Amino acid sequence: MTFEPVIGLEVHAQLLTRSKLFCACSAAFGAAPNAHTCPVCMAFPGVLPVVNRQAVEFAIRAGLAAGCRIAPVSQWARKNYFYPDLPKAYQISMYEAPICVGGRVSFTVGGEHRAVRLTRIHLEEDAGKSIHDAHADSSLVDLNRAGVPLLEIVSEPELGSPAEAAAYLKSLRSIVQYLEICDGNMEEGSFRCDANISVRPAGGDRLGTRAEVKNMNSFRAVERALEHEIARQIAVVSGGGQVVQETRLWDAEREVTRPMRSKEFAHDYRYFPEPDLPPLVVDEAWVERVRAGLPELPSARRVRFVRDLGLPDYDAEVLTARRDVADYFEAAAGGQPNAKAIGNWVMESVLRIVRERRLDDPPRIRDWPVAPEALADLVALIDRGTISGKIAKTVFDEMVASGRPPREIVESRGLVQLTDAAAIAAAVDRVIAAHGDKVAEYRSGKEKLFGFFVGQVMKATEGKANPKQVNDLLRERLRG
Ligand code: ADP
Ligand code: MG
Ligand code: ZN
Repeated sequence: MTFEPVIGLEVHAQLLTRSKLFCACSAAFGAAPNAHTCPVCMAFPGVLPVVNRQAVEFAIRAGLAAGCRIAPVSQWARKNYFYPDLPKAYQISMYEAPICVGGRVSFTVGGEHRAVRLTRIHLEEDAGKSIHDAHADSSLVDLNRAGVPLLEIVSEPELGSPAEAAAYLKSLRSIVQYLEICDGNMEEGSFRCDANISVRPAGGDRLGTRAEVKNMNSFRAVERALEHEIARQIAVVSGGGQVVQETRLWDAEREVTRPMRSKEFAHDYRYFPEPDLPPLVVDEAWVERVRAGLPELPSARRVRFVRDLGLPDYDAEVLTARRDVADYFEAAAGGQPNAKAIGNWVMESVLRIVRERRLDDPPRIRDWPVAPEALADLVALIDRGTISGKIAKTVFDEMVASGRPPREIVESRGLVQLTDAAAIAAAVDRVIAAHGDKVAEYRSGKEKLFGFFVGQVMKATEGKANPKQVNDLLRERLRG
């Protein structure tokens, strides 16, 4: 029998609010332990939570971007469990009445456009952090993160492969980054996902028992963990066994999932409506104000780049994955005839320098190695035949190093492309005369020597000869 996997993801996105969800403490990362705490997030008796309006607005923004229904009235709920880094012994979350319901997220996998439906998006507070490895005989607790707002985005169980799950996650991360509500950093855990996986006979319509896998801190890890977990479950079921509903941890070093705890059921948490907070009311005017302020989202932008700028779908996908990259590309390509070439330069050269020089300061690229207008000028010089594509690489490196405009570099270094037919012919003839033996070999059928001749002519002209003219002329002269 063959089996198919079914995957549903729960994503936690840490919201970029200045303060925490229910108190005025800073939500910033990286302060001294317990510096960002107050009686509310330390759960002193008698304190009361006050909802952060910005966090609610961010949730509405996410909901609208994913086409969710924004609930006019939602309800905070207590999720009860005991852990040292959860001083209230409950987390304020949403349960029966989340703020966003339904919706869908589109993504691209293997060149195909798909979508997955969302179950819900809700708000909740994060817990603090337990530090077990700093002292031999005790654990420490840092409550800076306690009360930081999280958005939980729950997908329907309808992702059919690890690759689909990863593509969905990438798309979702791109959306929250476009919305500027989350920095999307998986390594630091501000964008993390729990994966629910089950397997069933191929084509079946009933869901199998699922396991939940946690602790994946990259897209790659998500894919690997899912692949392993699917293989493990198929082995269990094929062997006549049953999958146990449990939570498992991904061990990236050993590349296995290990059981962590038996999976809790919702009733274990004793959810009940939060008595210290009134129902959350979001009126239509607020929703419409938020809608009016939404940026163009990556999928719409991709479609527009294909339609209006003539980009191939793949290029448009890559260039729109990040808002800053898409903005940069658009600044360079706007009004230019050759958007595709500019896109190539962005993907191959500009982003390479960004990576090499670590100019990327998530969620944003801090500095661009060259201004978008300068890049457009460089491509225009190639298009007009002033410089060859090869020389353009030299010019680009010089632009990055000196910050000078491409035209100035081309002029001051005498890099203008040689298109004078007579001059090129002279160079070609010199090369042919100097390599009589190779010419004879070529003529007797060793055609791959052609590249050698091109190389020699380019060398003789310091790389400046127009390659097409060189090719045409060489072919003609070598024919003999
Ligand atoms: P919990 O709150 O216990 O984590 P939910 O019912 O909210 O459980 O589901 C969490 C996630 O698990 C959702 O993304 C859902 O799509 C997914 N899921 C539920 N059942 C299955 C299943 N049998 N196989 C795969 N994924 C599932
Ligand atoms: Mg869960
Ligand atoms: Zn506080």
